Amino acid sequence: MSGVLKPGVVTGRDYQTLLKSCKDGRYALPAINVISSGTINAVLEAAAKNKSDVVIQLSNGGAEFYAGKGAPDSFQAKVLGAVSAAHHVHMMAKFYGVCVILHTDHANKKLIPWVESMLDHGEAYFKQYGTPLFSSHMLDLSEEPLEENISECARILKRMVKIDMSMEIELGVTGGEEDGVGSDEIDNAKLYTQPEDVLMAWDMLSPIGHFSLAASFGNVHGVYAPGNVKLRPEILLNSQKLVAEKRNLSSNPLDLVFHGGSGSDKSQITETLDYGVFKMNIDTDTQFAFAKPVGDYVRANDGAFRYQIDPNSGKPYKKEYDPRAWLRMGEKGMVDRLTEAFADLRSAGKSIAQ
Ligand SMILES: [Zn+2]
Repeated sequence: MSGVLKPGVVTGRDYQTLLKSCKDGRYALPAINVISSGTINAVLEAAAKNKSDVVIQLSNGGAEFYAGKGAPDSFQAKVLGAVSAAHHVHMMAKFYGVCVILHTDHANKKLIPWVESMLDHGEAYFKQYGTPLFSSHMLDLSEEPLEENISECARILKRMVKIDMSMEIELGVTGGEEDGVGSDEIDNAKLYTQPEDVLMAWDMLSPIGHFSLAASFGNVHGVYAPGNVKLRPEILLNSQKLVAEKRNLSSNPLDLVFHGGSGSDKSQITETLDYGVFKMNIDTDTQFAFAKPVGDYVRANDGAFRYQIDPNSGKPYKKEYDPRAWLRMGEKGMVDRLTEAFADLRSAGKSIAQ
């Protein structure tokens, strides 16, 4: 263990303390994409129940949904939804008593204005409270040429370090797509990050500030039939070794993120923990974990989803169709799936919150 922190959103040096605790202890935190206050609460409930710290993150689509799909301006909804969710997490993480890394997910070139607008809000928050709103934003320019990817990340990281923020970058390509970012048609070589590219990113970004790296080792967003995804965790080790050797650093200098964790083989998840992975993104599996028990509930209470009062028996169905009854089923499903994730990533029982 590397330290003890106050519960709540961790940023700056505290974020790095938590990250170091993960890497030293060979465990990682699940990063769950949330879309509502209810899904945030489910994640916090699961983390508290399992005595684990956790990463909560929003994709641009999740942030938009948080603000409301019917909101008048979809771009502003993506910005304000993320900011509103962040405020909810700041208040509730303390209440649930765990440390939370607050993040946003993939932002490609088109979404740079989204990140920059969230930074406007982050800077205002920093002025008022002395800490940033988010621990880290992700910038995924992996579809752009390497030089452009890294130099654009450098430009934005310079702005972020002034308010104690970190950045997640992506080199190589995670297969599949996450909320419209990414593509299914990618030639196979790009699915594996090149260690030389990682060294270049290290040299350009580490003098500016802290960054984490989503490296590609055959991982794919979504869940597919077995055999379709060939994970090669040793790719991660190759990058760690090259950077450590060339820059004379101790082992596993890179802070790595595993994208597309849903549906992954358990032994390969465990293997990545030895190679410096501290965060594993999970979305598809928690979506299904939410949906399935809701579906079961609807089927078991068929009448309540057709009539307010049963036409034969006269029984009022108010208790059954109350959204709290069936949304709670979804939350419980998420908590159960996350309990499994905390065990897989060995983070259960390891919260460093005081
Ligand atoms: Zn991803």
